Amino acid sequence: MHRLEGILHARNTIVIKIGTNLLTDRLKGINRERIADIARDVAHLQSHGNRVALVSSGAIGAGVAALQLKKRPRTIPEQQATAAIGQPILMEAYEAAFRKQGRTVAQILLTKDDFVNRARYMNARNTLRALFDRGVVPIINENDSVAVDEIKLGDNDNLSALVANLIEGDLLIILSDVEGLFSDDPMHNSTAELIPVIETITADIEKLAKKSRGELSTGGMITKIQAAKRCASSGIAMIITSGNNPRALRDVFSGDFKGTLFLPGRTRLNVRKKWIGFVSHPRGSVSIDEGAGTALLAKHKSLLPSGILEISGEFRANDTITVLDAQGHEIARGVTNYSSADLGRIRGRKSSEIEKILGRSSRDEVIHKDNLVIITGGL
Ligand code: GLU
Repeated sequence: MHRLEGILHARNTIVIKIGTNLLTDRLKGINRERIADIARDVAHLQSHGNRVALVSSGAIGAGVAALQLKKRPRTIPEQQATAAIGQPILMEAYEAAFRKQGRTVAQILLTKDDFVNRARYMNARNTLRALFDRGVVPIINENDSVAVDEIKLGDNDNLSALVANLIEGDLLIILSDVEGLFSDDPMHNSTAELIPVIETITADIEKLAKKSRGELSTGGMITKIQAAKRCASSGIAMIITSGNNPRALRDVFSGDFKGTLFLPGRTRLNVRKKWIGFVSHPRGSVSIDEGAGTALLAKHKSLLPSGILEISGEFRANDTITVLDAQGHEIARGVTNYSSADLGRIRGRKSSEIEKILGRSSRDEVIHKDNLVIITGGL
């Protein structure tokens, strides 16, 4: 169905996300056969020079089975305890399956802070690199047993896209219990068709995602589209395909598979820009006039004080802030050279006036173009 020339040449960095429903069953526990299929195909990919990381759900699912619970627990402490019980069971299954392939696995448990805090972000990246250098397969999950709401990413679709960014991946494959994105909800409309390739994630595509609830686990299609947007904006391709097909990964790499391919955007951001654009937490925002908007979007210029209309939130120099157009739509993110208080004094003024107003010599740009990421289609 798909031809993937250019994306699937060897020596790629690939993230494979595996959903809970594929891996665990409340009564039967872990699906070891599926894990064996994945281990065999991942080992095959590695032997062709690819680096592969897995993002695996299923900690809570495995815990539910181990405790013989009738359903997923509802309170946070119970979920955390269940994840703490299930995570080592899940890892044991991966370890055994990869050992049969002569491969070593490593467990990495991340929380939102590991992406938001730049030092921790770089640490996680270095660890993953060191593992890749040793030919190890990192198996990543959210650190559910400590992640309460405030520090939770909440779903592994977004986690896998952040991981793909973190390791400068080429491709994210989401193995799901659905085949991909359909033109309508396939549960309710028998004429709904699988969409094989999505070039740009438009508002219509997002509407489709809201309609399809064909999956029982955390995110459904909405979080998959969020993940696809994160990937597309950073030049990473993403595929959704059914992990119920034991040949799913082999089919993808034969270039002929059933699923939805989201093409990567054209720009490939460097790591710093990726971090600014997609993982650091904006502390405030500025809205800008049309002239400044054109300078940013069409001419790739820095943001100057003269184009700033409004400032909202309290932020300091070096914080990440959002740049909005006059209608309030997010068009960019970047690291500000000025605090919100100073910006309040220099907004709308010429760069040559800054020194007089603030009483000290400062940079001309509010956000330098090297620290600015244009957001296409929003986050
Ligand atoms: N981290 C959760 C688990 O391992 C899964 C989250 C998700 O399914 O997106 O159980």
